[in-house]
Amino acid sequence: MAAMKKIKTLQCINCGRDHKLTEVKYTCASCGGNLQVIYDYNLIKKRLNYEVLKENHDLTLWRYMEILPLAGFKMIPPVQVGWTPLYKVERLGAAAGVPNLYIKDDGRNPSASFKDRASAVVIARARELKEKVITTASTGNAASSLACLTGSLDMKTVIFVPEIAPAPKVAQLLVFGAAVIMIKGAYDDAFDLCLKAAAEYGWYNRSTGINPFTREGKKTCAFEICEQMKWETPDKVFVSVGDGNIISGMWKGFVEFHRLGIIEKLPQLVAVQAEKSDAVKRAFESGGDIQPVSGETIADSISVSLPRDGMAAVMAIRDSKGFAVSVTDAEILSAIPEIARGSNVFAEPAAAATYAGLRKAAKEGKVKDSESVVLLISGNGLKDVQSAVKACGRPFHINPDMDELKKLVADNKLA
Ligand SMILES: *Cc1c(COP(=O)(O)O)cnc(C)c1O
Ligand SMILES: [Zn+2]
Repeated sequence: MAAMKKIKTLQCINCGRDHKLTEVKYTCASCGGNLQVIYDYNLIKKRLNYEVLKENHDLTLWRYMEILPLAGFKMIPPVQVGWTPLYKVERLGAAAGVPNLYIKDDGRNPSASFKDRASAVVIARARELKEKVITTASTGNAASSLACLTGSLDMKTVIFVPEIAPAPKVAQLLVFGAAVIMIKGAYDDAFDLCLKAAAEYGWYNRSTGINPFTREGKKTCAFEICEQMKWETPDKVFVSVGDGNIISGMWKGFVEFHRLGIIEKLPQLVAVQAEKSDAVKRAFESGGDIQPVSGETIADSISVSLPRDGMAAVMAIRDSKGFAVSVTDAEILSAIPEIARGSNVFAEPAAAATYAGLRKAAKEGKVKDSESVVLLISGNGLKDVQSAVKACGRPFHINPDMDELKKLVADNKLA
């Protein structure tokens, strides 16, 4: 496949070494660090700018094709990814003491999570490379997303997930026809085995961190937020963090729009982690390397012992002058009905963590009430109903009888 003129280099985040697009598939040839795609921004500026975007009626992530690592539209999956709604959420904002609060509802993607942005770009790239089998390790959502978006395509999908993945996510895998390998172990074990399998069988590996193109899909969410806020940058964006690929992707998006002259200001990014899955927070606050943690949390999508894009995540927090906050499982669970009742959006635990993090940060005076804040809702609540109901009341059970109903209404002051 011919080199793409718009791409200058794949640069190592760790040592800075440059690679040609055609000479490397995954990580740095010198140090094994994760790579990031550096474009020819002067060239792109001519094709992608404020005027062009204003006239573009493609309401999907493909409206940013000029700054994606793809030759064109030919190989993109056939369902709509991206351009998810951004809501101003007044009731939730009032509850948090942050009147200028927005929700970016990425649970509205085809497989009901943010991961579709990454899978869409990686699948298109894999098809341009004529890859036949695509694989990934995942806590659940990256896998459901890959399975969903390859569903009708002439491409085999092999999935490695930990056995504890929530049933709805596993159902998605099976429905879309992926080969599902459930690992008796954690996400980190699934990741390592997937890596070995890809090397052994020559499968194309979408796994987070090592694949330089997941971040490219993820950055499109930042582009959308800028456009949906009428080219104003929010002051802060709260992102839940496991591997650290979403937050580093979001940051890349804001930085690229800034570099293209499309926005004037950069936001601060706030990383929200579960208390025992907080390796990125620890590394950011100590200034040291990423060290493994237990990774235990009910929020399965951010349950990670050793973050696979941790260094890029730390850089995103630091460069954006943001901070990190950790929340308990109890805080995550109670955030689910709070978000639902304050915004009409049902979030899965990992996504709800952003609101728990906002509550905590606001209480500590780290968010001013004049600031505009976006919470990224990265996955839909139907992905993990079992956790959600733990935080809610129970339904009433009665016979189909008016007298019983009357008693119930009176007892519970329903009328
Ligand atoms: C994957 C995921 C995250 C975390 O993204 P990372 O790139 O691993 O930091 C957060 N929320 C949801 C719903 C996810 O699926
Ligand atoms: Zn390197």
